[in-house]
Amino acid sequence: MKEWLRSIPPIHELQKNPQYMQIADEYGIDSSLVHDALTNCLNQIRTQLLHEIWRGPTPGSSDFLKQVWSDVRNQVREQIMPQLKKVINATGIVLHTNFGRAPLSKDAIDHILQIASSYSNVEYNLKEGKRGSRYDVVEKILTKLTGSEAAMVVNNNAAAVFLILRTLAQGKEVIISRGQLVEIGGSFRVSSIMGESGAILKEVGTTNKTHFQDYQKALSDDTAMIMKVHTSNFKIIGFTETVPAEDLITLKEQNPELIVYEDLGSGVLYDFREHGIGEEPTVQSVIKSGVDLVSFSGDKLLGGPQAGIIAGKKVYIDQIKKHSLARAFRVDKLTLAGLEATLLHYVTGSKGLKEIPVIRNILMSKEEIYERSLTFIRLFKEKLPEFHISIKESYSQVGGGAMPDVQLETYVVTIRHDRLHAHSIEKKLREAPIPIVAKIREDEIHLDLRTVQETEYQEIIKAFSLLAEL
Ligand SMILES: *Cc1c(COP(=O)(O)O)cnc(C)c1O
Repeated sequence: MKEWLRSIPPIHELQKNPQYMQIADEYGIDSSLVHDALTNCLNQIRTQLLHEIWRGPTPGSSDFLKQVWSDVRNQVREQIMPQLKKVINATGIVLHTNFGRAPLSKDAIDHILQIASSYSNVEYNLKEGKRGSRYDVVEKILTKLTGSEAAMVVNNNAAAVFLILRTLAQGKEVIISRGQLVEIGGSFRVSSIMGESGAILKEVGTTNKTHFQDYQKALSDDTAMIMKVHTSNFKIIGFTETVPAEDLITLKEQNPELIVYEDLGSGVLYDFREHGIGEEPTVQSVIKSGVDLVSFSGDKLLGGPQAGIIAGKKVYIDQIKKHSLARAFRVDKLTLAGLEATLLHYVTGSKGLKEIPVIRNILMSKEEIYERSLTFIRLFKEKLPEFHISIKESYSQVGGGAMPDVQLETYVVTIRHDRLHAHSIEKKLREAPIPIVAKIREDEIHLDLRTVQETEYQEIIKAFSLLAEL
């Protein structure tokens, strides 16, 4: 063993090896990075030798150095590769929070690219040649689309909820139904965010039923607000009752200071109900019902970048904009660019809407998915005849905590191999150069092409061919 340790060449000697500079040139990096990787590799090998767990070539042999340089290359590559990667989502779940929710439309991407690569008027009024407000960028389009008096955008909907409560209800009571004290995931609980904001939670009703009288009785001089929370990610069925916003608004007659606010969660500007999908009320209809404020996410069913949108009465939105914490939750110009381009699709109507991947994927018909699956199977079979590939009826989900009870009819491509287990195929797909996430059902791989772009078919086939070589 001592012999082996001694036959590992010292760093200063390996630095003279042509491989050293070659790796630096190959990856366009400083040689100090190669030095670090080399030190690291040699240390690892020494430790493994000492613990008698080294399985590589014997130090001193010519293969040993080959192994060292190959390890150095891998380490260097890993260090300079981004951690955040494109993933092919073959799960059919349209809005997957783990996969970054909404993919953006081409126009949104182009707009982001342009704004990112140059200076912009994000806070500059070009007409007057002086300072402007970043809130102005999308306010007009949001008020037009939602029918509200005013609107603003913050970092995400969680920030929107917090900011609304902090600005308008700090130290005062906020009445909320027990059936709506939801947890959204990622530790977002309405009750805790209310605590953080300094608003005092006043629960009314029960888990399954809350009546108009419950709200009415809870009103006092300390009440600032009635908050409704859209139960986005679950559904209470059976013996239930909730009070519509229209009824709650009548309470404002006796209590003119009372604010009625609805956290819509996903918030849709497009009426999916027209296609028989879900029961999500549009933001426009909620504003029309007379609530003072609504908030919703930019990257759920809206199909834009991560953002929290607040729309409603100008008196309240003006106060929220002026709150010192609004600055802490403000959005970047890239978000504004992506959001503006996404919202413009809604302005142009049905043709534009099909450009938004989330809407397109949700509305994609079973027949279209069938056709796509056949195309994929034909391409796959040409290259990989050794796999068993077929097609099956199934369901896709909307995901992202939206429309939990909606099952979108779909077809899945099913893939099986005589020798390779589904679990090891699934793992290898995840570890592919462009990772692919798929589902396993009954020891088969299921690919739902609803969430896969046609340009990604060949990438998937390539990943399978790497597998077939094993
Ligand atoms: C998703 C959701 C939130 C949080 O929105 P983010 O944009 O993820 O911060 C808040 N409230 C409800 C009801 C939601 O569904």
